[in-house]
Amino acid sequence: MGFSVDMLRGGGGVVDHQLARRSLINEVKKGRISKDSVCDAHPELIRAAKNIGEPSKTVCPICEEVNVALVTYVFGHGLPKNGKVLLDRRDVEKLQRTPYDYAAYVVEACPSCKWHHLLRVLPIAGRRPRSRAAQ
Ligand SMILES: [Zn+2]
Repeated sequence: MGFSVDMLRGGGGVVDHQLARRSLINEVKKGRISKDSVCDAHPELIRAAKNIGEPSKTVCPICEEVNVALVTYVFGHGLPKNGKVLLDRRDVEKLQRTPYDYAAYVVEACPSCKWHHLLRVLPIAGRRPRSRAAQ
């Protein structure tokens, strides 16, 4: 089973990802939701978090042992269906030079307990045709 955007917890039409994250963490702390059911990140996400994830200052809210890593997946024209992991600023600039719009999904993942949650979705707007577009 490959990784897909459906596996990014906190997506699926949720507007306020931080609020969804907080209430989910609360439910786990209160014992209403088991840790196992929220610490189920796909192996590809954990691999990305370990190898190319951006270290964060946020301690994992579930195991509180290590800091979560941020992984950004981008989806859109010409990219793999399962998204492409954004590595650095130059990747973003490359997308901005295309005429297409993309969406970047910033996910936090804990390499230790496998907690994961979508933090935010950022639009990456492609270059719009200007007055010279007719050329
Ligand atoms: Zn953890």
